Amino acid sequence: MALQREALYLGHTQEQLEQRIAYYGGKCWICRVAPWEHIDHVKPLSKGGAHILANLRPSCASCNLGKSDKWPFVPAMILINQSAYALAN
Ligand SMILES: [Zn+2]
Repeated sequence: MALQREALYLGHTQEQLEQRIAYYGGKCWICRVAPWEHIDHVKPLSKGGAHILANLRPSCASCNLGKSDKWPFVPAMILINQSAYALAN
């Protein structure tokens, strides 16, 4: 994901980010099933979220794309959407 120039960035190390991914068991924080593929900005940069460790969580591609820039966001929203999609297809 391209970072927005104006996004707040408080430096963190790759190791800290990896620890954060490990905290979520290497899984997507939204569906908690799929292995992580993307680093999600929980509060989207476009909604004023910051590129800081506390705002970053591992997510799978499907959940991250479904979440997009929804804010506020609760994981149930995307699980409902995915269920509806599965039923409709
Ligand atoms: Zn997921």
